[in-house]
Amino acid sequence: MSVNVKAYQSIVAALGPANVDLVAVSKIKPEADILEMYNLGQRDFGENYVQELCSKYEALPKDIRWHFIGHLQTNKVKYIAPFVHLVQGVDSFKLLQEINKQAAKNNRIIDCLLQVHIAQEETKFGFDEGELEKLLGSEDLGKLTHVRTRGLMGMGSFSDNEQQVREEFRSLKELYNKCLHQSATFTTLSMGMSGDYKIAIEEGSNMVRIGSMLFGERS
Ligand SMILES: *Cc1c(COP(=O)(O)O)cnc(C)c1O
Repeated sequence: MSVNVKAYQSIVAALGPANVDLVAVSKIKPEADILEMYNLGQRDFGENYVQELCSKYEALPKDIRWHFIGHLQTNKVKYIAPFVHLVQGVDSFKLLQEINKQAAKNNRIIDCLLQVHIAQEETKFGFDEGELEKLLGSEDLGKLTHVRTRGLMGMGSFSDNEQQVREEFRSLKELYNKCLHQSATFTTLSMGMSGDYKIAIEEGSNMVRIGSMLFGERS
């Protein structure tokens, strides 16, 4: 039993009134831990690895909403397309096209968040502001009838500089507000993890992805 029940209950108590959704990030953690949190009432879980997600999906209750939160390779979309609830972190149009194709095969419409690159750190993943505006304005997006873009996802810098992280979240929130004018399907701004979720909520997040605070550090 390594779930931190007290932390879970205090996070839920804080997020509920603020209308912020909690995704419990269970990557690398055993099924028993997920089940323990499920029994506390949690239904949204986030995973980063396709194979791990698929075997957890098979083993655990079917009313769990599985979020894919990491970098998703196009050749692996087919494995999660039958059941995934929300693909967070769509970082290319090519990936969106593949999700659309696999969703159609499964007679589903798959909800997606577009990942935006906000942190200082160098990373290959995520759209920048210009790319995002172009994508949302393009006719090509409208042709993808089996995906629904529900909002944006971003990760702040891994930094002790609170002001910097706050400014990153603030700029993502501003971008999100702009996108609301371009997209009728947007509802979700996913930002904030164990170390920075309070700042993220103050800056307008309505979905946080929290792992180590709930399940303990990952080895
Ligand atoms: C691992 C991970 C999290 C959770 O991180 P913690 O610091 O353990 O809360 C959130 N979002 C993404 C994309 C992750 O990969």
